[in-house]
Amino acid sequence: MEFEKLQEVVYDAGIVGAGGAGFPTHKKFSKDVKQIVVNAAECEPLMMVDHHILAKHFGAMVETLKILIEVMGAEEAIIGIKGKNLHLLDKKVCDAISGTNIKICEIPDIYPAGDEVVLVYETTGKIIPEGSIPVMVGVMVINAETVYNIHNAIKKGEKITTKYVSIGGDVEKDIIVRAPIGMKISELLSACGYTNLEGKAVINGGPMMGKLVDMETDVVTKTTKGVLIFPETHSIIQRRKMPMSMTLKRASSACCNCHMCSDMCPRYLLGYNLRVDKTLRAASHSEVKNVESFTQSALCCGCGICTVIACQQMLNPQAISMEIKGELGKQGFRRQNNASPAEVRKEREGRLIPSSVLIDRLGIRKYVKAEVKRENVKLEPKTVYIPFSQHVGKPASATVKVGDKVKVGDVVARTEQTALGTTMHASISGRVKEITDRFVIIER
Ligand code: SF4
Ligand code: SF4
Repeated sequence: MEFEKLQEVVYDAGIVGAGGAGFPTHKKFSKDVKQIVVNAAECEPLMMVDHHILAKHFGAMVETLKILIEVMGAEEAIIGIKGKNLHLLDKKVCDAISGTNIKICEIPDIYPAGDEVVLVYETTGKIIPEGSIPVMVGVMVINAETVYNIHNAIKKGEKITTKYVSIGGDVEKDIIVRAPIGMKISELLSACGYTNLEGKAVINGGPMMGKLVDMETDVVTKTTKGVLIFPETHSIIQRRKMPMSMTLKRASSACCNCHMCSDMCPRYLLGYNLRVDKTLRAASHSEVKNVESFTQSALCCGCGICTVIACQQMLNPQAISMEIKGELGKQGFRRQNNASPAEVRKEREGRLIPSSVLIDRLGIRKYVKAEVKRENVKLEPKTVYIPFSQHVGKPASATVKVGDKVKVGDVVARTEQTALGTTMHASISGRVKEITDRFVIIER
């Protein structure tokens, strides 16, 4: 396959990173890529989709990696996976790739092993420069589910109309389903039998980085990896419900300047100039002239170590840092100094956070299940809301009009291929009912 053809197929299929912010995948392909790093870390507790992909579709992933290596002229692909998950991989496929340029790299069972900067370091020994992207060090990072999506696009012409989602938390049974894009999360939960949600709240994503679900409006998107249900009183929920004004007030009165939040930050430990204690202090004390303390937030990945593990005052530097990062992003600001950290800080080794410590600190041990089943629940929403923005970059524009008849897989919106964006498809067959500033709404 030609390089341009691969880009076109992936763009047409609407593939974006399935495990993070949703970077359009065709824009990651580059002839400068020497190493393809597959993120199979399954970083956050209670998230199970990557486990499923690794257990069921490892052969397809390897087949796709061979294509990616050839098309981009890369030297190797490295699958970053925790030792505890190696048993998921098909032994025959592992034997077949032994000694080839597709390697399995056992990464430590730490959090956040799936953060791009941490993963690239653990698998290649390279450190992505501050504010930069992996290709600057000859690396492309791609999520396990995204690799599988590329396989389906190349081999079967499939478009992204569904998303694997794991559902778990404070529920009797955790499951994995394949949900139509644009289905309301409230409807998904009720179709899967999670109907008694009184006194509960729902998170879209993991317990560290996930966001509170608005049960009225939030829908499944191309990046919805997991939906977690917790008691409303749980600290995971309470932290998210606290208004920013209160978070800042608490910080201004209770921060003791111990800078543990920075000392434990995984990116700081890899040598980044990211001092979140300074951000918190500048924001909570209105030190508006201290510009660097704000702009450095662009280097934060939002992992939450500073909040959940480091701060003994129960403050929330993660929320403050991410709020500022979000605002900087809206203004189009990217801190792109491309400074390569001189060295990994020597304290790093002793400050890595094992996943089991994180689970206990979060108070979610009782929600970790021995088994998570893939269930073929019939999901047939009457209406879907296809968002124009399910990715990093320029939102898509509608290519259909109200009243148009569409079937599953038809294009309903796109961003032009030259821009940073992707293609959106109908996830049910029906008619376009309405087009708003956020959605193409399709009714069965
Ligand atoms: S959330 Fe906190 S610990 Fe994580 S990268 Fe940002 S500042 Fe560092
Ligand atoms: S760890 Fe908490 S108390 Fe210490 S500097 Fe950071 S925010 Fe302040």
